[in-house]
Amino acid sequence: MSAAPLTILGSGMAGLGLLRQLRALDAERPVTLITADGGDDYSKPLLSTGFAKGLAPERLAARDALAVADSLDAVVRTHTRVEAIDPERRTLRIGEERLPFGELVLATGAAPVSPFGVPEALAGRVMAVNDLDDYRAFHAAVAALGRPARVAIIGAGLVGCEFANDLVAGGHRVSLIAPEAAPLPRLLPEPLGRALAEAFAEAGVALRLGVGVAGLEAEGSEARVRLEGGEGVAADLVLLATGLAPRTALAEAAGLAASAAGIHVDRTLATSAPGIFALGDVACVEGVNAMYVQPLQASARALARTLAGSPTPVRYGAWPVLVKTPLLPVVALPPRREPARWRIEGEAGDLTALAEAEDGRLIGFALTGACVRRKVELARAAPALLG
Ligand code: FAD
Repeated sequence: MSAAPLTILGSGMAGLGLLRQLRALDAERPVTLITADGGDDYSKPLLSTGFAKGLAPERLAARDALAVADSLDAVVRTHTRVEAIDPERRTLRIGEERLPFGELVLATGAAPVSPFGVPEALAGRVMAVNDLDDYRAFHAAVAALGRPARVAIIGAGLVGCEFANDLVAGGHRVSLIAPEAAPLPRLLPEPLGRALAEAFAEAGVALRLGVGVAGLEAEGSEARVRLEGGEGVAADLVLLATGLAPRTALAEAAGLAASAAGIHVDRTLATSAPGIFALGDVACVEGVNAMYVQPLQASARALARTLAGSPTPVRYGAWPVLVKTPLLPVVALPPRREPARWRIEGEAGDLTALAEAEDGRLIGFALTGACVRRKVELARAAPALLG
């Protein structure tokens, strides 16, 4: 083992989760944690629950970077962006500095994707919320209005829907805009998505579904989302929830195997370069990049054991996604391939959808309303994500 420290890039739930697991097994090993953000220890899923609970951003951080360094006995470097990796010389480039690493773990997450250009006049009024720093900026922009905000959310996936629910519960006026016919198109078959749309509409969310966005414009102090067909939606703030892409640029530039799905790793989270590992939203484990918490926690546990000297392959169970839309609770385990049929039962908002293969086997499911209580029973019958 090299004398240079084990270096973890990223202080999100993957990077910090790994450090926590590693410290439980190995209290001695020198570790450096480098992060482009403020290094706060926070739970990202809470970002889309703060307005309903009236939580200020500081209430979302469990500990700051200093406390993390102290309690986990690591060198923590915040607001530090790594610009390049040299896998041969085992160094990181940070400006003029060349920092040696022993082994390296990439936990650089995923970045919001924006399909539109944002006019300069709208700077500060169009944002994506993907970390605590973003949340601070969004929270401040809402608070600066001094009245309920009109927020146009573009994108009706998990992030868009959770913020729509949270903001409307917090007393704000929300428009939810997406090209698909119903919310959560990647998690729910359309009838269940329509049930969520109805719950949103009843709570006052203005839904603009089935229509694309042509662009964003500034109109005085307002932002205007121009829809295809010419109509516009006026808002104080625009929240982009148009998807996340794994941050693979550093790995790709260093010649590591990667694709749009993430940095390619095997079950031990090893990349194609010796001594370099990846986990969390940036990693694609044998073709699976789940981008949610349970898989990254399992990865952190397995990788900690591997780094402590016992090579351990990771395994993902049949872990459904719980969408935080209290207006209509949603749980989904999307099938990994197109099902032969969806069998849908129930009424009003209480629906069960079973994704079945040709031979009738359960390969996924989606539940809304009171039916979410079936999640444990159905997860037991469904195939593991990475068995
Ligand atoms: P991130 O949290 O994105 O961390 C990436 C880290 O890498 C950051 O510290 C960043 O600064 C650092 N970094 C990146 N590039 C560099 C660089 N070049 N140099 C230095 N540092 C760098 N999942 C669930 O399971 N349940 C939920 O309810 C849920 N809700 C969610 C709600 C929202 C609003 C969002 C956005 C996501 C939600 N998710 C949920 C998904 C879950 O939060 C993510 O899967 C998880 O947080 C990803 O963690 P990560 O550590 O891989 O990445």
